[in-house]
Amino acid sequence: MSVERAAFITLHACPLAAPGQGKSGGMNVYVRQLAAALGDMGMQIDIFTREHTGVVNRIENIGPNVRVVHIKAGEPEAHVEDLYALLPEFLDQLNAFREEEGLTYDVVHSHYWLSSWIGRELSRATGAPHVVTFHTLGLIKMQSRAGEVEQAERLVVEREVMASADRIIAFSPHERDAMARLYGADANKVSLVHCGVDLSVFRPLDQRLVRRRLGLNGEKILLYVGRIEPLKGLDLLVETTAQMDTGESVRIIVVGADANGGQEMDRVMQLAKERDLDGQIDFVGQVDHRDLPLYYNAADVCVVPSYYESFGLVALESMACGTPVVATRVGGLSTIIRHGHTGYLKSWRCPEAFANSVEMIISSDDLQQSMGEAARTRAEGMGWDNVAAIMWDEYAVLTANAA
Ligand code: UDP
Repeated sequence: MSVERAAFITLHACPLAAPGQGKSGGMNVYVRQLAAALGDMGMQIDIFTREHTGVVNRIENIGPNVRVVHIKAGEPEAHVEDLYALLPEFLDQLNAFREEEGLTYDVVHSHYWLSSWIGRELSRATGAPHVVTFHTLGLIKMQSRAGEVEQAERLVVEREVMASADRIIAFSPHERDAMARLYGADANKVSLVHCGVDLSVFRPLDQRLVRRRLGLNGEKILLYVGRIEPLKGLDLLVETTAQMDTGESVRIIVVGADANGGQEMDRVMQLAKERDLDGQIDFVGQVDHRDLPLYYNAADVCVVPSYYESFGLVALESMACGTPVVATRVGGLSTIIRHGHTGYLKSWRCPEAFANSVEMIISSDDLQQSMGEAARTRAEGMGWDNVAAIMWDEYAVLTANAA
């Protein structure tokens, strides 16, 4: 049986939401780009997401063969912690829509634990195989940073869906191993499929021109891109800069908005003040996804100081723009970055070690250029078309087995 039609379930990460603010980030980008690439290849994709505040059209066509369907469940502004209780209602409404339109799907692909519950139920009801990408896992998150506490239901659902899903997509060997170790997942059911990057948008540009456009001068620029929340470890970038001693004038640019009402941003700003760096750090807020190549190209180094990243799209986007990355050696980052070739991976959250790596890059034009070229070359093998082709094969094997 061929794969003609897929249902994507992404309950709380609407692919139309602007990434880099609130809870919207890599998962929203992933769902949209993967669906678009599969749609370009001819697969029909319906992306089901919960109706939230600001929805203009209930059904939105977002490209060839791809539409977003907003399903009403609970109040539009419901808090993420309250979504678990809304799952049965979402499922009922989704099924009502499906019946109204006479839709059947060859495969169901769910994203994140909440949606994985829906994916499992939809698969049970229709017989379509269930593919799940968890994006992040509760137990890994809790182990990565003391203080992160996850809903109890999350851990139960993750464990149950690991057992029931037909195929589990992991972004890195680390994630695959954690699935087996922490949740008892059957390793034979887990496929490693990396994330992707839009190579036509994220590409090298003339650094002088983009800096002029952004009103930047000849200072060395360290870039952070992402939502501002404790798990992202932005304080480490401030401490790193405080340790630097190259004699170069350095500026930190932070792109992205605080995910939780400003607390983490205040904390980082306070730290910058204490380290006498408040005049060297710019918080530019959320930037439109398609304008980000300007920032990546303006930067000398992109720093990803996260406690955990299941993949780390930002690192890959930076590399696609030819900008080396210095990052913590966690999760998917160790899969993307080639230590010593496309940037540096640091095993400890140690500002001195980070500073040393950043200084090596910014004090040598030759190293910066060769690492930048290697980074772009590495990213070229990771376009969304490539990811979609692998995913299509994954679906095809399942549908053939189900036939
Ligand atoms: N992003 C954006 N605008 C911003 C900040 C971030 O478009 O102002 C995007 C960024 O390009 C990336 C995503 O948000 O695609 C963040 O993904 P990542 O995997 O790095 O982190 P996550 O959000 O999944 O934790």
